[in-house]
Amino acid sequence: MSDQSNTFVAKSIVKAADKEHRRKINFNISRYNAAVPTGKQQFTNIELAREKAKNIKWRAIETLDKQLEAFEMNSSKRGVKLLWAETADEALDQILAICKKKNCSSIVKSKSMVSEEIHLNRFLEKNKIESVETDLGEYIQQLDGEAPYHIVTPAMHKSKEDVAKLFADKLGTPAHLTPTELTLVAREKLREKYRQAEIGITGANFIIADIGGIAITENEGNGRLSCAWPKTHIVIVGIEKIIPSITDLDLFWPLLATYGTGQKVTVYNTIITGPRQKNEIDGPEEMYVILLDNGRTNILANEKTRESLYCIRCGACLNACPVYKNIGGHAYGTTYSGPIGSVITPHLKEMGNWKHLSYASSLCGNCTEVCPVKINLHELLLDNRAEAVEQKSYSFAEKAAWKFWKSAMLNRKLMNMGSGKLKGWVVNTFVKDWKKNRSELAFPQKSFSQQWQDKHRKRH
Ligand code: SF4
Repeated sequence: MSDQSNTFVAKSIVKAADKEHRRKINFNISRYNAAVPTGKQQFTNIELAREKAKNIKWRAIETLDKQLEAFEMNSSKRGVKLLWAETADEALDQILAICKKKNCSSIVKSKSMVSEEIHLNRFLEKNKIESVETDLGEYIQQLDGEAPYHIVTPAMHKSKEDVAKLFADKLGTPAHLTPTELTLVAREKLREKYRQAEIGITGANFIIADIGGIAITENEGNGRLSCAWPKTHIVIVGIEKIIPSITDLDLFWPLLATYGTGQKVTVYNTIITGPRQKNEIDGPEEMYVILLDNGRTNILANEKTRESLYCIRCGACLNACPVYKNIGGHAYGTTYSGPIGSVITPHLKEMGNWKHLSYASSLCGNCTEVCPVKINLHELLLDNRAEAVEQKSYSFAEKAAWKFWKSAMLNRKLMNMGSGKLKGWVVNTFVKDWKKNRSELAFPQKSFSQQWQDKHRKRH
């Protein structure tokens, strides 16, 4: 097993037995589950909307090169400086070069999973540039020195009491502040950071090819402020976020809001098409868009996995996943957790060290059921498993264990050889971790064959 796999198992065992963790997650996901049906009511035919969204993303990804070129051409006309980054390091170097050019020591940042993927904050800190998260959930996580727990709700695993204690510890606020008071504290602190920042960094929910714009969706207004207030705006975004036309947003905005948070539409939806123009009175003087690959073209090249690039990062599959709900977001050890993270991480990074994520699934198919763009997530997990076997990225011990298992399962005589006691001993010795929080697995004293024969004899 790889180090990543060992860590995943160790963390999962701890979290799965943590009842307080489960209570908080169940509480937050139950509120989400209550809200989503209301959001769905705005669609006269939700299945048709999902089908249409999948088709649009299919077209966008199948013509990705052309769409990106169109975006480059159209955004450049309005003064956007477009940069292409093949790897995380390239993107980081590009951001650092802009920071140096602008003599920047302070950055405000709105929520962006891509910036997490390239570990931007850590990199900027090393280069003595302060980068402050302005989304409240991300701000909480940054204060706590933790990565986001969920792709939409970064501090989902924290209760309001946890946040009040964190603020008291880190910011010296009185203990037991209410959520409203905590928000006001964060707002006051962040306003000051906005005033100081030379650069604002944001992600993008969508890259719009036909108008050369980017669309940002958020509930707090911090994204809009991060791109409008500082003199320089940097967008860092994955190439798969492309949609062909601005008219596609009338479908994607409500879909993302409904499946992300249960809202009909998110509070702030902004389309940005370049820096401040000659006749405009506000906005940044310069705008850069960094289009990041970082393994996405590996996924594009794989015909089966390609559809995972349709993902609009709504987080619905995480909320629906029985594994995620038990082990939480941090156990995965990846930027993207839950079913979509388990599908894409082995391709964004490499199969050998990350294939274990594809096995962390009950294959119940709930993720596929809830995905607004109808990605066949559970089938893609199976494809990953098949690919891992084809690539022979498994150990000798694993291969031997499965060979033994297969021979035993296909041989009734072999299966009947051991007593229930012996089988119990073998299995309970091999599944030590299972027993930590559960009772031992008990085999019946009589084998299935013996039980069948007894039953059959009695009948006649
Ligand atoms: S895979 Fe589907 S459900 Fe999961 S985050 Fe992406 S769009 Fe949402």
